[in-house]
Amino acid sequence: MAIVLSFFVGHWLLSVFMQTFFLHRYGAHRMFSMSPRAERVFHFLTFLFQGSSYLNPRGYAILHREHHAYSDGPQDPHSPHSSKGFVDMNVKTATRYAGLWSGAIEPEERFTGGYPSWPALEKVGDSWMTRLAFGAAYSIPYFIFAPHWAFFVLLPMHWFMGPLHGAIVNWCGHKYGYRNFSTRDKSRNSLPFDFVTMGELFQNNHHRYGQALNFAARSWEFDPAYWVIRVFADMGWVRISKEQEMGLAETYVEPADASLAEGAE
Ligand SMILES: [Zn+2]
Ligand SMILES: [Zn+2]
Repeated sequence: MAIVLSFFVGHWLLSVFMQTFFLHRYGAHRMFSMSPRAERVFHFLTFLFQGSSYLNPRGYAILHREHHAYSDGPQDPHSPHSSKGFVDMNVKTATRYAGLWSGAIEPEERFTGGYPSWPALEKVGDSWMTRLAFGAAYSIPYFIFAPHWAFFVLLPMHWFMGPLHGAIVNWCGHKYGYRNFSTRDKSRNSLPFDFVTMGELFQNNHHRYGQALNFAARSWEFDPAYWVIRVFADMGWVRISKEQEMGLAETYVEPADASLAEGAE
């Protein structure tokens, strides 16, 4: 049982870390820099750890930049406040992401550029063969170590891990929790110590200071991914410039222009 649960928690944390570190903070926001070689290594690890639900950096970045610009307004690709419900929000997210990724939807010019690109790996990661192979591989530890068939209900979460993390953040982070700052949206901080999505659930802090690398803003808040990235910087794997450290780096992400202002609590 311990092995199955460790596998589940390990996959969860590695997958959500690559999403917040590589796709979100690096790909969409450029909160830090890295060499082309490091970018390839981390892109490969994103592919490996997201596995069956690997998300394309370009599709992710454009979708996310649209979210910041239209947060909780009618053009927000994933707001619980402009959707009919949880399922509707996720169908809209998936449809828009797929359209952006395939090129069927032409994004606004201001949302494009600056994301990692590795066409060969993206092609492999997006293929059904790869997704099915990862999906089948996840079942192996369950067949060997699960003490009861009920453990198999965890398997679908492995298959859809990437979008599942997105759904939790997009829904809970704009619906449940407290607000530190007045922003032009309904973003919230859901957990003072975000051990579930490694910092992504500090949505209110993140929408207020969109380029700040540390998603925690109060002394009693803790953003796990930030500290891992600090270690990466100490190791020389990523670079955080003075401007980036201060949250003043050049940005592709614009603050919300929706008029849905809500104050702090
Ligand atoms: Zn963001
Ligand atoms: Zn948000």
